[in-house]
Amino acid sequence: MTTTFFGAIADDFTGATDLAAMLARAGVPVTLRIGVPDKAEASTAFEVIALKIRTIPSDEAVAEARAALRWLTQKGARRIFWKYCSTFDSTARGNIGPVADALMSDLRTDQTVHCPAFPENGRRVFMGNLFVGEQLLHESPMKDHPLTPMRDANLMRLLTPQVQRQVGHVAFPTVRAGVAPVRDALSRVQGHIIVDSIEDADLHVVAEACQDMPLLCGGSAIAQPLPALWRETGVMSAPVDDPLPTPGPGRIVLSGSCSAMTRAQVGAYLKTAVGYRLDPLELAQGGLKEVRAWLAAQDPNADKIVFATAEPKSVLAAQEALGVARAGALVEDALAQLARDAVAQGIGQIVVAGGETSGAVTRALDVDRLRIGPEIAPGVPWCFAGNDVAVALKSGNFGTETFFADAFEMLSAGGAVAAQ
Ligand code: ADP
Repeated sequence: MTTTFFGAIADDFTGATDLAAMLARAGVPVTLRIGVPDKAEASTAFEVIALKIRTIPSDEAVAEARAALRWLTQKGARRIFWKYCSTFDSTARGNIGPVADALMSDLRTDQTVHCPAFPENGRRVFMGNLFVGEQLLHESPMKDHPLTPMRDANLMRLLTPQVQRQVGHVAFPTVRAGVAPVRDALSRVQGHIIVDSIEDADLHVVAEACQDMPLLCGGSAIAQPLPALWRETGVMSAPVDDPLPTPGPGRIVLSGSCSAMTRAQVGAYLKTAVGYRLDPLELAQGGLKEVRAWLAAQDPNADKIVFATAEPKSVLAAQEALGVARAGALVEDALAQLARDAVAQGIGQIVVAGGETSGAVTRALDVDRLRIGPEIAPGVPWCFAGNDVAVALKSGNFGTETFFADAFEMLSAGGAVAAQ
């Protein structure tokens, strides 16, 4: 049995796949778990546990993260990573801060760094302020997120009310000065330390300076340099290479994300695919009968999409009529049921858009473990759930406009699709 070296706890499913993809890109075999596994499960060197704790009450989020930490440390993990979104998705109460505090206490450490920067996806931290592309976080489309609207870009201000320990900062000029100055700065502060990063080279400096910390917190990009650094120090063995499974050719996109990029992706895909638009108000009244019948009538191999994706104005209208939670749950439950129907129809390739939506779909499919495959866009890999079904779980703003078509094209081109 392999002893686990690295264990990550992710606050949602797409965040977990994003991190797993980054690690897989670094050439290590990665197992992604959905929920905390049984004690008896054998573990691998790199483990990523996907939870769904981004917006649940903080005490519940902390309890789940602690259970995940217990499993990882029992399996031998010596480096723990608390993975949250590169847009710092959280509410005024958390859950980024409370979980980080609890993990620090359980790991008996008084210091961790927070590094959400993901330059490849345009997320950069400069002087403690988070940018999405050229915009400050609170001026980006994240200001209208249905569950975690972000109304401030300053990470120190966002984190301070969420934590018990003090919040510090290592600013960009120190990071550009190199590993030794960052280590020196870190030796003078305790608590939660926000570290600036603009380019991948900065992340490399931060990773090198922090590679021995028991707990790192942030987006997935900061994790990418770590396997190579640990390999250099001799703590990692050579990766094992298993052939990937070959799912069937049937395909579907299920989109419950209303993020700006998803809206563009849905629009682009509808130019060539057939589509069914889900409306939470109609779901509340008429249920799922109509959309399930629509799906049953489609050719499994044709390009098709079912989407609740809508403009902020219509999301708001649905939320005002039904409540935020009920509107979200109606959409999530519908897409989860459609995923089950699709698999029953023999569809082997499912692209899901939306972090919360992905959680609902993977739960509905009863998936508890995924093998990480090729990366479609930065941070979004195909994942194989057993031999017959491949799922791509894309959170809101990831990918380019042609993401959905690119995803299916990648599986066909890679020869990773079974003959009919
Ligand atoms: P993202 O990754 O873009 O944040 P999520 O799936 O995490 O997407 O979150 C989007 C939330 O919005 C989900 O709970 C989803 O059910 C909900 N939702 C989707 N479409 C609508 C809509 N038309 N009206 C109201 N809520 C919606």
